[in-house]
Amino acid sequence: MNRRIYNFSAGPSTLPVAALEATREALFNFAGTGIGIMEISHRSEAFAEYLEGVEADLRALLAIPQGYTVLFLQGGASSQFFMIPMNLLPAGTTATILDTGVWSHRAIAEAALFGNIHVGFDGEKHQFRRVPQNGEFSVAADSVYLYYTANNTIYGTQFHTVPDAAPMLVCDMSSEFLSRPVDVSRYGLIHAGAQKNLGPAGVTLVIIRDDLLAKRDREIPTMLRYSTHAGCGSMYNTPPVVNIFVVGEVLKVLKQRGLAGIDRANRAKAALLYEVIDASDGYYRGHAAEDSRSMMNVTFNLPTPALEKKFVAEALAAEMSGLKGHRHVGGCRASIYNAFPEKGVARLAQFMNDFARKNPQ
Ligand SMILES: *Cc1c(COP(=O)(O)O)cnc(C)c1O
Repeated sequence: MNRRIYNFSAGPSTLPVAALEATREALFNFAGTGIGIMEISHRSEAFAEYLEGVEADLRALLAIPQGYTVLFLQGGASSQFFMIPMNLLPAGTTATILDTGVWSHRAIAEAALFGNIHVGFDGEKHQFRRVPQNGEFSVAADSVYLYYTANNTIYGTQFHTVPDAAPMLVCDMSSEFLSRPVDVSRYGLIHAGAQKNLGPAGVTLVIIRDDLLAKRDREIPTMLRYSTHAGCGSMYNTPPVVNIFVVGEVLKVLKQRGLAGIDRANRAKAALLYEVIDASDGYYRGHAAEDSRSMMNVTFNLPTPALEKKFVAEALAAEMSGLKGHRHVGGCRASIYNAFPEKGVARLAQFMNDFARKNPQ
């Protein structure tokens, strides 16, 4: 039970040990109620109070300004691909979406069911090795919003500057949520599935500007309206109580660290791996262009697929799991989210150097 290995999985992914221990405790006795967290009513005073605390911690950590509502929803980040246009994109109007990989692709396909889509950047032309810098994407003049994916989990690319555009921004921050400071006031809506940086799959965070809640341009099923959940404190129906609990415990850990400190630590961890890649004389080839490198998912290739297979297998034998790349890009991927310990990244960096020496091209 105590034998934990380094888990480089892209999601679900490593969580802070303190959060896991608190969850183990709460499974049997939540907040001293004598009732387990899987068993307690979501309408109980104890849970209502806990949920308030979770939201307060999130608001403090991310410095969410007045005039924004926080929602705890289900259906994963993928459901936001349709909920966003369903609620915010009236028929006949246009959204600009930056296509930087699989997740933006899916967002485009869903949004096209509701309105007109202007693809402001076609990442496929760059094999999804880079995200656009300012000036490298176009925005349809009549766009209701500009939508982008802040960190592209699969390709290992990340925006390092917020897109400079006139329409309001809507962003999928799933795989970089709370990994660095964000100026929330620039966004109409931010969404994030929990299972990359925040907790277990099954709860999705949505931060939405209040004036958008009143929009009602088409008939929408009750459960799929943001206003429904906003009006009930995310308690219109039974929320994913256990998942929210874990998120709450992760937030306690993150709050102690602060976003500036988390950002510094994440950059330091990623630098360890990118330095190995850059110093390897081309043995390791990073997938992402330098200006678009992700601090969360480090993607790279070895000289041959056979060596990649060997790399992944030997890493596993050395207690480092989850290094196989996504099936769309192949190669290797090390996901090093907030909770991933620096010691584990240092171990991988050492392993990469040793492997390259022992397995010459
Ligand atoms: C994982 C991921 C998703 C999909 O999340 P689900 O919760 O599985 O629907 C969407 N966007 C990004 C950026 C992701 O990393």
